[in-house]
Amino acid sequence: MSAMTDMGAAPGSRAVPLTVSEVIEESEDTRSLVFSVPDSHREQFTYRPGQFLTLRVPSDLTGSVARCYSLASSPHTDEAHKVTVKRTDGGYGSNWLCDNVAAGDTIESLPPSGIFTPTDLDDDFLLWAAGSGITPVMSILKSVLTAGTGRVVLCYANRDERSVIFAAELRELAARYVGRLRVLHWLESIQGLPTRAQLAGFANLFTGYQSFICGPAPYMAVVKEALSEAGVPRDRIHLEVFQSLTGDPFVEAPIHPVPDDTDAAEAHIDIDGQTHTLRWPRGRNLVDTMLGAGIEVPYSCREGNCGSCAATVVQGAVDLGNANILEEQDIADGLFLACQATPVSDEVTIEF
Ligand SMILES: Cc1cc2nc3c(=O)[nH]c(=O)nc-3n(C[C@H](O)[C@H](O)[C@H](O)COP(=O)(O)OP(=O)(O)OC[C@H]3O[C@@H](n4cnc5c(N)ncnc54)[C@H](O)[C@@H]3O)c2cc1C
Repeated sequence: MSAMTDMGAAPGSRAVPLTVSEVIEESEDTRSLVFSVPDSHREQFTYRPGQFLTLRVPSDLTGSVARCYSLASSPHTDEAHKVTVKRTDGGYGSNWLCDNVAAGDTIESLPPSGIFTPTDLDDDFLLWAAGSGITPVMSILKSVLTAGTGRVVLCYANRDERSVIFAAELRELAARYVGRLRVLHWLESIQGLPTRAQLAGFANLFTGYQSFICGPAPYMAVVKEALSEAGVPRDRIHLEVFQSLTGDPFVEAPIHPVPDDTDAAEAHIDIDGQTHTLRWPRGRNLVDTMLGAGIEVPYSCREGNCGSCAATVVQGAVDLGNANILEEQDIADGLFLACQATPVSDEVTIEF
């Protein structure tokens, strides 16, 4: 598959070529790609359950497109990294990956990233997935059962029985973890689309659980409404939105030091146990500013879609820019996306 191997990662690039060790046919329109990560990048590719990889898909039109795929494997149970790609009707990247990738091929990937991940695996979890939205949820489910102590309830919606991904694995897990795992399959072919009232009745039984939701927009909307009707507090609701990137995060951010005469705020930034103080120019986002100052910062899409660079304003004010993926409550709590935000006040204190 020369198209893939030709795209060697540029020197200094964050992209890492991963070898595909196996392709698994999960259902008629879904395939998993299992990767072997080179020893030299193992640490960079450690991940938390619920995180995703960003893959570079070759394109004759544009050279390449970038697509995010959640890791369906668990860092606690699986040796290898696995993503699961469902074909999108008329979609370029997903169909390319399903049609062209074979064992032995190489695909470039950015390191794992994302904030759809539990803070405590010992909590109880109410997991909501529809269709390919099962992928990050599966990683969370397996991680909690293996490395945590809590209970897990999965509500998994699909068009029909044939579209259910990971059916056999879920059956095995439910048998192995009797008393800790309950799996509820919702099949549209039999039950129709779930309604807010039906899901609220169910959610009512688990209001103390952490809810993680991933699936098509209408499904996520109805689950959110149901949880709110059941009185589940917003800080127990976590969402992952699947959408295609429009930019190219494989192109490195330009690294420009800040000229002395630039109008800038003073930023105090806590990250990885260290505090940095630096000048944050009015018109520049925080990711570019930190990279320019030589500070490592988590980021992936750089277009406000993935949430990898989310941080909190502890003091001062920022202009959020594109913050569509953040919930109102997140914003009220000070959360912002560092790849989008610019400073408003003269002094800002930030925590990653
Ligand atoms: C955090 C995250 C996790 C995700 N996890 C998963 C997952 O686990 N499993 C999963 O299946 N999906 C996942 N997704 C969704 C996935 O990233 C893609 O959005 C999905 O696969 C659809 O991509 P697509 O390219 O097939 O379709 P589209 O989004 O429809 O692609 C069309 C886009 O590609 C462009 N395009 C079309 N043809 C070409 C061409 N020849 N050359 C260049 N550009 C072209 C078009 O201009 C258009 O912008 C995730 C998304 C996110 C953000």
